[in-house]
Parts: sequence; C-alpha cells; structure tokens
Amino acid sequence: MPRKSPRSKKKSAPAPKLPAAPRVRSAPGTSRTHASSAEGGHARKGARPPMASQRKPTRAAKVRSPRAERPGARSLTPDPARVAAILEQLAERHPDARCALDFETPLQLLIATILSAQCTDVRVNLVTPALFAKYPDAAAFARADVADLERMIHSTGFFRSKAKSIQSACADLVRLHGGQVPRDLDTLVALRGVGRKTANVVLGNAYGIASGIVVDTHVGRLAKRLGLTRESDPVKVEMALQPQIPREHWVMFSHWLILHGRQVCSARKPACSACPLRTYCPRVGVTVSQ
Ligand code: SF4
Repeated sequence: MPRKSPRSKKKSAPAPKLPAAPRVRSAPGTSRTHASSAEGGHARKGARPPMASQRKPTRAAKVRSPRAERPGARSLTPDPARVAAILEQLAERHPDARCALDFETPLQLLIATILSAQCTDVRVNLVTPALFAKYPDAAAFARADVADLERMIHSTGFFRSKAKSIQSACADLVRLHGGQVPRDLDTLVALRGVGRKTANVVLGNAYGIASGIVVDTHVGRLAKRLGLTRESDPVKVEMALQPQIPREHWVMFSHWLILHGRQVCSARKPACSACPLRTYCPRVGVTVSQ
C-alpha cells in the first residue's frame, strides 16, 4: 500500500475555524458610516484602522466641543481653537464686564473682597461706603474697636471671622509693608486672612496684574460645563485653566464667566438654547436647561 506524504496528510486536515470578530459598538453620537470607514471598511484588506490621533479633523471639529471632553473620558484635550472661540463670544456678549465691588484704592478692594465671601457684591457695596469713611487706611482698621467693626459689617454674614481677618491683614500691612497693599501674590497670601482668590482679585483689579484666575462659584461651575476642567477645588480649577487661557485674558475671563453665570448659565437651569457658547460647549453635567 502506497504511503501518504506528511504534506498530503496536512492538506486533508480540516481548517480550524477562527472565532468571529467581536462587534464593536460605535461611540455615542458616531454614525455607522463613520465607524465602518474608520474600521477599514474601504481600506486595503488586513490594513490596520487609523489611530484616532492620525485622523484628519474636520474644520467644524476644530472648534466644536470634542467628544474626548464628554464625561467619562480619561483626560481633557486642550483645544486652543475652541477656547479662542469661547473667549471671543464671551467678550462680545459681556463688553461691560468689570469687578462688581466698589472701591477706590487697593486697600478698599482688599477689605471689600474679604467681606464678599459668602455674600453678594450688592450687599458689600451697601456696607463699604460708611466703613471706608470711618476707617480710611490700614492703620485705622488695625486699631479699630472690634465690636464696632463687627457691627458695621454684620449684614455681610460671618462678621466675627471677617472682622478678625480685616484687622489681622491690616495689622500685617502696617507692620510689614508701611500700610500699603503689596503688588505680588506670594506677599499678599502671606498676610493673615488673605487667600489666593482675594489676592488675585486685588492684583487683577486694583493693579492690573494678571497673577492668576479668580475662581468663584460661577467660574468653577462654568469651567466644568464648558469642559475646561473636571476639578472642583478652586485652586485646582485655576491651575487647570491657566494653561488654556491666554494670560492677557485672565482677569477678564473671570468677569465674563461670573456675568455669564448670572445672566445665562445659572446653576439650576442654564439657558442653553439662547447661549452664544452653545456651539462650543459640551454642557458637561447639565441635565435640565431652557
Ligand atoms: S448656558 Fe448651556 S451652552 Fe451656555 S455655557 Fe452654560 S451649559 Fe454651556
């Protein structure tokens, strides 16, 4: 009987069945056409699908809210074109944006900013004229009768701790800086009762120095909704914003977002349908809008 060669044996063995390729679900909002083409639908057989970073972005995608900034994405992708478009729209919508606290000197702004914690700017502006008339400089605040100071600022809330902060900061100003408000962030935050936000407000608005970005409740909320950060801590939000916002806009950016937060993007029900930023905003975390 003729022996079969090992080759012929191999030929007659049934070919192993390859497992079917798993079905890949397209990302939310991605059409099937795009998914199949991205997965090599029209590409050479066996060719690898292009990496996301190799795909040529469309013109619109350059300024629209990127999908990478949707909740669940691991990191936020800085997009200078989108940020530039947001800044342009904000400047156009809020040309009159400015510091809402009334002041004439850096010291007055320092005191007003301390008083504005957990209080409206309108309320602070009602209190400060009499306060500044009675206590015209840092030395006067430093030696003020604390009970009188507390009484004068009572309506701004947290009056005991605010009176203490004002007196401590003014005592440091007299002792260390000749009664003048310093012009740099590190020296300002070293004063008792002065935090980073207060220092940024004073430097930006009294001296025109862009030492940082003021992050209050409006700025924090809008920065998140606009997909500029996922942080909640104000200092971390500021650190995330600084590389994205050109320095010449740092001071106005806060004023724009504060006004926009008050007039359009409210905490409870933002008016997205009427918002000039809607084309560029991923509306992160927004569930109800008008
Ligand atoms: S109102 Fe809506 S579209 Fe406008 S910034 Fe706020 S979340 Fe975005």
